[in-house]
Amino acid sequence: MNTLIKCMTSCKQARLVFADTSDLLSSGIANRELSAGVAIALARLLTIAGLTTGFMKDKERVTYTIRGSQRELALIAEADDMGRVSGYANEACRALVLGEHELEMLIGPKAYLQVIRDIGMPVRFTGIADMPYGTVTDDAAHFYTQSEQTPTRFWTTEQWTSDAQLFGRGVAIQLLPGAPAALLQDLMGQLEAHERQVADPNLPLSRLPHHLFGITEMVTQAGVQWHCDCSRELFSPMLYTLDRTELEQAIHDSTSIEFVCHRCGTCYAFTADEIAGCLE
Ligand SMILES: [Zn+2]
Repeated sequence: MNTLIKCMTSCKQARLVFADTSDLLSSGIANRELSAGVAIALARLLTIAGLTTGFMKDKERVTYTIRGSQRELALIAEADDMGRVSGYANEACRALVLGEHELEMLIGPKAYLQVIRDIGMPVRFTGIADMPYGTVTDDAAHFYTQSEQTPTRFWTTEQWTSDAQLFGRGVAIQLLPGAPAALLQDLMGQLEAHERQVADPNLPLSRLPHHLFGITEMVTQAGVQWHCDCSRELFSPMLYTLDRTELEQAIHDSTSIEFVCHRCGTCYAFTADEIAGCLE
């Protein structure tokens, strides 16, 4: 479980969320064989999804989808009010060879960010915005500012540390209604002036509100963690979608059939006996 911190500026005109997201990035990106550019884009989307759990209402669930300029490319992240996050790159994205500095090949002029909000009502809210910055981070802020009329900025870092671990951290700043637009710029300026310290894994997250913005009051801590809804029961019906001859072959060879969850990478293996059960 990673830590998430929520607080308010002393002028009470902006909400701030700070989160460490190393576990999210390790679960969603490590061992996925993603090219560097795709890994960075997904890492940023996961960190942003984690940060926005700090703004969510009760029972809220949000799905973020980035559609690339080439429509078959997609990155998806889901998050809920409990701080649970998952996400993945779709098959086309996993096959894409993208360098660290080539995000524009994924997030080109025709790319868009779709956000679906489910707040437990019959109707879900869908918003879409273009991605003029091609950085994911600034595009997500652009979405909140344009589509939700909530001036927002995000800052993220994603680093591979010397022991091949992932370090992720993010900050979200959101203005409350009536706050002057210049406040957002001021707060972002303060953050950027301390960027190197904020990105330093040795500086504990709990020090950031005070270190960056002089905030000492009304600070609440929550958690953010990787969570996938998949289960064995969810995958077993997929056996019925396979060819009968394929199932019979597996029974004959006493081999198992495996399905891998594309979100979390969990492998579900079904034995010859279980396969025989679904042929009855
Ligand atoms: Zn899963």
